[in-house]
Amino acid sequence: MATAGSDNIMSRFLNRKYETLEPYTPGEQPKVLDLIKLNTNENPYGPSPEVLKVINEEEVGRLQLYSDPEAAELVEAIAENFGVSREQVAVGNGSDEILAFCFMAFQPENGKVYFPDPSYGFYKVYGDVFKADRHPVPLNGNLEIVPEDYKNLDGTIIIANPNAPTGIALETGVIEEIIKSNPDNLVIIDEAYVDFGAKSCVPFIDKYDNILVIQTFSKSRSLAGSRVGFALGNKELIADINRIKFSFNPYNLDRLAIRAAAAAMRDDAYFQMTRRQIMETREYTVREMEALGFEVLPSKANFIFARNSRIAGKDYFEGLREKNILVRYFGKKPIEDYVRITIGKREDMEALLSATKELLERQ
Ligand code: PMP
Repeated sequence: MATAGSDNIMSRFLNRKYETLEPYTPGEQPKVLDLIKLNTNENPYGPSPEVLKVINEEEVGRLQLYSDPEAAELVEAIAENFGVSREQVAVGNGSDEILAFCFMAFQPENGKVYFPDPSYGFYKVYGDVFKADRHPVPLNGNLEIVPEDYKNLDGTIIIANPNAPTGIALETGVIEEIIKSNPDNLVIIDEAYVDFGAKSCVPFIDKYDNILVIQTFSKSRSLAGSRVGFALGNKELIADINRIKFSFNPYNLDRLAIRAAAAAMRDDAYFQMTRRQIMETREYTVREMEALGFEVLPSKANFIFARNSRIAGKDYFEGLREKNILVRYFGKKPIEDYVRITIGKREDMEALLSATKELLERQ
């Protein structure tokens, strides 16, 4: 599939430093609707009903006006939820933009940046865009992050916790040791999936001045299409991020996104109910997949990463696709045997399991 920017077309005006840039490949967003879409870790439940109430005719009727560059309503809702001050919160157009702001704010050109490999593909891409000296740190043979590899380093550290695409989480005590052993390096913890069973590092932001936590509304708060992410850190780090934001795109969140995300953040009951449901469905799916002979990594995310010696990862991915079920296959070492499956509703997972049984019987 060709994605924008992935083919090698370029003009003679392109800045030469981008000639070799390999853009991030997003998971497919198919136009047909009768697919069971388990490929981009979206939430199977819609946004909170409170979101639907605030995105009303009145709000749409104000779209001729710019949005609030401070996104005050949203910043306040986030601060209240986490029990931090408003000066400790920065918001962005998805956590992708927050990550980009971090590279702009904190990453000197040719300075080192360390991140697990495999992990979220954007760390590598932003490393390239911002001309950092990239140091991917391989996972161990069980596809786990080895905490010792991140101690006493000499550059920025980015760790997804839980990691993607494995779903495996580190204990926060282990992360605290990494933070402590790197007093002069910024440690960025990407908690995109933290609400599905891992513990958050947010309590560390008052204790250490070298940690930033990044979270998103795209997963546990059912707003991937609204593009809202945020960073939590001490007020100086947050001021640095906002310095970049206000030098780049002050209106980075639109009016509807600000209102929607604030309403979602305030509706804790819906958040708790949907994330619990997803965790329950994940445990059910893991049990059933294991019964079918799959090896499933211990996931604390809204997806699982699994392989089965009876069917090659690529064949499984393609077989599911023929049955209108879309999952994610990466096709590269050391994860070429695995597929990543987003946890959907119970009936989505039942359909996945019965398709899987049929594919295994054909082997
Ligand atoms: N971090 C991780 C680990 C992710 O998997 C993703 C989503 N693919 C993101 C960040 C970005 O999410 P968003 O920009 O939707 O907030």
